[in-house]
Amino acid sequence: MATVAAVLREMTGAHDRCMFCGDSRGTDTEHFWPKTRYADRAFRWENLLRICGGCNRQKGDQFPLRGRLPLLIDPTVEDPWDFLVFEPVTGIIAARIDGASGEPHPKGVTTLQERLLPLNIEAIKLKRQATQRNLERAVARFLGDMVRGAALPQARAELHQAVQDNDAHGLAQWYFRRDGSNEPPFRELRANYPEIWQSIQAVI
Ligand SMILES: [Zn+2]
Repeated sequence: MATVAAVLREMTGAHDRCMFCGDSRGTDTEHFWPKTRYADRAFRWENLLRICGGCNRQKGDQFPLRGRLPLLIDPTVEDPWDFLVFEPVTGIIAARIDGASGEPHPKGVTTLQERLLPLNIEAIKLKRQATQRNLERAVARFLGDMVRGAALPQARAELHQAVQDNDAHGLAQWYFRRDGSNEPPFRELRANYPEIWQSIQAVI
């Protein structure tokens, strides 16, 4: 039988990234509801995440609640981009403005608290911006190849490879499924090459 750690590793994909920061390699099995305070949940499958040592050490047994509901995003059942937005100019991830209240979403605000998780430290901001530039360049290169009349299968394969190589920090999801798809050159790809767009969504 596969161990819990092995199954969690499988869920995090080939890059085995931390489910919180999406940056470092997942090395630790984390209890979302801390096992020190919620022992009854310690062995429940849905309470386990695979995260990096840095996120694990920093989070410790912190677990902010509002009433009985967690204020921390659970990346196994929630799409973090429902609560967060990416700002390419700064590399920062910020809380999304909640449409109903007009205020930053409390779950986004809490998850981004510096003492809870290291999601906006300088090193990660810089790496996010590098990932963003790589994705943008790959799409711009594909569009240029099409203008030059390059062979489609080759250009498509190169684009797929570049996107998979840069599937970090949740940014492939941001640009090919969420708000980032409205930014150039992603919106041109989506509008002019819908089949290519869908083929990318199938590989991320
Ligand atoms: Zn991490």
